[in-house]
Order: sequence, then C-alpha cells, then structure tokens
Amino acid sequence: MSSGIKIEDPNHTARFKPLRKGKKPPKLLAVVHQSGCTGCEVCIAGCPVDSIELVPGPDPKNPSYQQMVEIDLARCIGCQNCSQDCPWETITMYQHDDAFIAWGNETLSSTLYVDMEEADKIKEELT
Ligand code: SF4
Ligand code: SF4
Repeated sequence: MSSGIKIEDPNHTARFKPLRKGKKPPKLLAVVHQSGCTGCEVCIAGCPVDSIELVPGPDPKNPSYQQMVEIDLARCIGCQNCSQDCPWETITMYQHDDAFIAWGNETLSSTLYVDMEEADKIKEELT
C-alpha cells in the first residue's frame, strides 16, 4: 500500500538538468493547479530555468491528449513568469514552505515525484 509520501524520481530526466544556483531558497515557488491545466504548454516557454515538465495524458498511444504540466519545486526560482503567462490562471505563487503543501493538494499526476515504494522499484531496476 502506498505511504502517500512522494520523493524525487531519481530516474527522471529533470534530475540531470542543472540544479538551482544560490544558497538561499526562493521566497516564492510556483504550483500548478492541475485540475485547471489544459496542457497548452504556454508556461513552459517562459520559464528561464526549464523547471516546468509535461505530464503525459493517460493513453500512452496519444500522450498529448489530456496532458498537463507540473513544476519542479527543486528547480523553480520563483520568477513568476509562468503565473503571469498562464492563459487559464492556473499557476499560483506560494510562500516557499506553503508551496510544498499546495503541491500535495493540487498535483493530481506527477512524473517528477513518485511514491517511496515506486522509487525503490526504480532503484532496483537500475542496479
Ligand atoms: S516561477 Fe519562474 S522559475 Fe518557477 S516555474 Fe515559473 S517560470 Fe519557472
Ligand atoms: S500555461 Fe497554464 S494551462 Fe497552459 S500548460 Fe501551463 S499551467 Fe497548464
């Protein structure tokens, strides 16, 4: 049974992208309310640190149908571009610590963060 605790997927390609620079964490972080995301990809183009990832839809044969996005909190620098650009106003900026709670509430589908059990399986497959 799932513990409900999500951790970074060690195998996701985002983990090979540059990490956020700077010692202090950003004051604000962006969270997508996925129930309102149309998957239009507008936000992706304006992110200066490439921290918005596509989450494919449920049909592997047609992954762009019902796709959405999620934001990698580990790389977001809080610039607010995406929240200003989203035509559907479905990205909200949160105070740093609140963003993690909001992420848990608003993220319906994730490829960046997985259940602990799933991460263990991924690690086993890799070794
Ligand atoms: S706030 Fe800026 S850095 Fe963070 S996801 Fe949005 S565009 Fe990217
Ligand atoms: S711009 Fe808004 S609706 Fe479009 S993919 Fe990004 S979060 Fe979703």
